[in-house]
Amino acid sequence: MQDRSLVSSLQTAVGRENVLTKKEDLICYSYDPTPNHHLPEAVVIPGNIDEVTQVMRLAYAAGVPVTPRGAGTNISGSSIPVQGGLVLAMHRFDRIIEIDTANLCAVVEAGVITAEFQSRVEALGLFYPPDPQALNMSTLGGNVATNAGGPRGFKYGVTRDYVLGFKMVLPDGRVLKVGGKTVKNVTGYDLTKLFVGSEGTLGVFTELTLRLIPLPESKRTMLAVFDDILAAARSVSAVIAAKIIPTTLEYMDQEAMRLIEAFAPSGLPVDSAAAVLIEVDGSERVVPFQIEQIGEVCRREGAREIRIALTEAEANQIWTARKAAFSSMARSAPTLYVEDVTVPRSKIPEMVKTISELAAKYQIKVPILGHTGDGNMHPIILTDERKPEEIGRVKQAIDEMFKAALAMGGTLSGEHGIGLDKVKYMEWELGTTGVDVMRRIKQALDPRNLMNPGKVLPTEAEE
Ligand SMILES: Cc1cc2nc3c(=O)[nH]c(=O)nc-3n(C[C@H](O)[C@H](O)[C@H](O)COP(=O)(O)OP(=O)(O)OC[C@H]3O[C@@H](n4cnc5c(N)ncnc54)[C@H](O)[C@@H]3O)c2cc1C
Repeated sequence: MQDRSLVSSLQTAVGRENVLTKKEDLICYSYDPTPNHHLPEAVVIPGNIDEVTQVMRLAYAAGVPVTPRGAGTNISGSSIPVQGGLVLAMHRFDRIIEIDTANLCAVVEAGVITAEFQSRVEALGLFYPPDPQALNMSTLGGNVATNAGGPRGFKYGVTRDYVLGFKMVLPDGRVLKVGGKTVKNVTGYDLTKLFVGSEGTLGVFTELTLRLIPLPESKRTMLAVFDDILAAARSVSAVIAAKIIPTTLEYMDQEAMRLIEAFAPSGLPVDSAAAVLIEVDGSERVVPFQIEQIGEVCRREGAREIRIALTEAEANQIWTARKAAFSSMARSAPTLYVEDVTVPRSKIPEMVKTISELAAKYQIKVPILGHTGDGNMHPIILTDERKPEEIGRVKQAIDEMFKAALAMGGTLSGEHGIGLDKVKYMEWELGTTGVDVMRRIKQALDPRNLMNPGKVLPTEAEE
């Protein structure tokens, strides 16, 4: 980093060993699962809120950009330090401060790993449902900053639904405390909703108060197998129309299953056109009944087979395979574009058809996965960034995919956020007024545009 006096002040603030400036260290904080990468000038690893405050004050005074980073698992380029400056790595914020069984909530630091938190609360008979499929690596702060979802979103909602409050350090170093352990809170504007999902552009979460619910008594997993992709997509809408609420309704097409099976074999029906992975949870009396009902709906829609996992081990095997989906795809192509188009649930069959047609039109490989119960599709484009002509076709297909989703009343992102890659589409969904309102909020909180610049909002020149 050029500014040696800033480096020395940062070292005083957080300790010499917690400021990294060597290129080989910086590389580790320069990328995420998207094709984007950019080196920061330094990585700072604070250990408590006072240290974050000092770092933010120093960066603000020096006019240096700051990009917060959890585990770097986001799929939108949102933790890439595109304008250099500092990466603020939050992995030392790893304490579960309190699990409050009387108030059904927990207070945690922002760097706690999602899966570790979930197992700790489940050991007490409690449940924290948000389950982004990178949960063995992702941090709770990253989940809150992206408003992460996951398969269980269909029944239980997304991260935002579990955030009761937080402590945040604002771009100028002031500490903002919002909400707390109360279930109700309508004191003034709803700042929780504003900051959750702000992708590190408004401040740094240091501490979170998260809502917990009782752990369901039992759960069962089943797979509905189809010879026709549209029948599989229709079955998702049909289950919803039948007023049944399973925990998950996950769509996987043949290409996706083949790639997963080659990497994490679990006996997926790779000779079928598509399958829907369904989990039901609740009381021991209700779960078998619902499994039967869902099976009937899927058969009516043309399922050729309904497989019910007989043991927990069998269910875990299928879920482990599903969690390995992105890794399986990453083995088969040098570059992946993981998209996140989301449409009203009744439009799922139309969206599946559109994605398949675009894949044929632009001659690209697009296996489809999706938290389809939420209308949230993950078409994954397998490509190679070293082939400019192919990338040109990929980008055209992505443009058309988002146009189609918006025309169906959908949205640009169901859970991955806007980050870097979708900035250019923001006005398509929000219009100039929507973008202007968001920009004014950003300017009010970050007048020098130093917090994770380049993300979420287009600059005026880009419009
Ligand atoms: C295999 C795989 C499966 C996935 N499955 C899902 C899924 O099912 N659902 C889903 O929603 N996502 C999924 N994701 C995406 C990813 O896991 C989520 O976006 C996750 O919430 C990111 O957490 P993180 O700790 O890795 O954050 P990072 O990637 O490090 O950061 C994400 C954003 O949050 C900001 N940020 C991080 N920490 C803080 C903080 N303390 N304060 C302020 N801002 C902060 C960063 O600046 C960045 O903008 C998946 C990713 C992978 C690789």
